[in-house]
Amino acid sequence: MDDPKGMATRTRLVHAGRRPHDNHGVVNPPVYHASTILQPSLAVWESSRKADFKGYRYGRAGTPTSRSFEEAVAAMYGAADAVAVSSGMASIACALMAVLKAGDHVLVTDSAYYPTRKFCDQMLARFGVETTYYDPRIGAGIAGLMKSNTRAVYTEAPGSLTFEIQDIPAIAEVAHAHGAVVLTDNTWGTALHFDAFAKGVDIVVEAVTKYICGHSDVMMGVIASTAEHAPAVRAMVGLHGNCSGPDDLYLAQRGLRTMAVRLKQNEANGLELARWLEGRPEVATVLHPGLPSHPDHALWQRDFTGACGLFSFVLKPLPRAALAAFLDGLTLYGMGASWGGFESLILPGDPKALRTATSWDEPGQLLRIHAGLEEIADLIADLDSGFERLNAAARAAA
Ligand SMILES: *Cc1c(COP(=O)(O)O)cnc(C)c1O
Repeated sequence: MDDPKGMATRTRLVHAGRRPHDNHGVVNPPVYHASTILQPSLAVWESSRKADFKGYRYGRAGTPTSRSFEEAVAAMYGAADAVAVSSGMASIACALMAVLKAGDHVLVTDSAYYPTRKFCDQMLARFGVETTYYDPRIGAGIAGLMKSNTRAVYTEAPGSLTFEIQDIPAIAEVAHAHGAVVLTDNTWGTALHFDAFAKGVDIVVEAVTKYICGHSDVMMGVIASTAEHAPAVRAMVGLHGNCSGPDDLYLAQRGLRTMAVRLKQNEANGLELARWLEGRPEVATVLHPGLPSHPDHALWQRDFTGACGLFSFVLKPLPRAALAAFLDGLTLYGMGASWGGFESLILPGDPKALRTATSWDEPGQLLRIHAGLEEIADLIADLDSGFERLNAAARAAA
């Protein structure tokens, strides 16, 4: 099936981008390892140098393997185009560079993924682009920060580590009235739970590394764009010489086919863990927008159709030895960067150090959890033993 338009996202991501009968009926597309791609004649060679060429000209510019994955992602998002790049971070860098030039101003949420901030502060600044960070909960108040040279507004909801939901439709309305482009990092929401283009976003970046791949074994990113911005995005990716390897593209596409069913389990486990943690005396607050206690719960309900398995919680202040006793004895939660795989993870975070437009005032340690696909009772039992160790270590330190 080429283009199952009008169907549910979960249907599109099963079928889009596959053409079995072009490949002997084989369900999944073949993996083309290619640098050189031969043209059959002088006339075709000459036409292959033109911008509107529909075939394949060079491995870096696209192969049937990359095209099939990109078609699937574009169909999943209902985007005009999607382009795969070598990591989620590369998707952020290329998307920002596609819309910004020297002398421009960009507004970036204060809750952005930290490497995004670093890119703005260390790369965009060098090329004469000024960044202003804004309160993620600013909503239509973003109007007060728009300057005559504000060319882009960068959003990310929920906030990295801190899980604020942004009023992206309100922000997009203001941005568009000022002629600015709206970008969003939709790695948490995915196309399944946040319909970014319907909410006014022009360019979506997503770390394929996380849920699309889903198995903690691929680094990749994707940029999905409206027809207006697609050519500039593709051109910028080309200027950077950025592309993805064929085996990774294959794995990402395979992950895409099962993403909806995996996410259901990540979501259910994450919500269950969040509710359980909310009832623990050692916990100061749980940052999960799916909880009614979350300050942005109503906004999340309005704009999202679900959650993934990633959320944070904040412990009441405790000795470091108690934190170490909690974390070091966990058997099911690995400690490491990234998320979106089949396995559960836990990681300490320090938002205080990453903020400039707003402050982070929770005194206790923040921990970010990724709920994997394990049985929920086992995930809870592991944390429960962790709290036993935490309390014993806290008593010993007192
Ligand atoms: C991981 C992540 C990225 C970067 O993806 P990589 O593939 O690791 O470069 C970008 N945004 C968010 C929200 C992420 O969690």
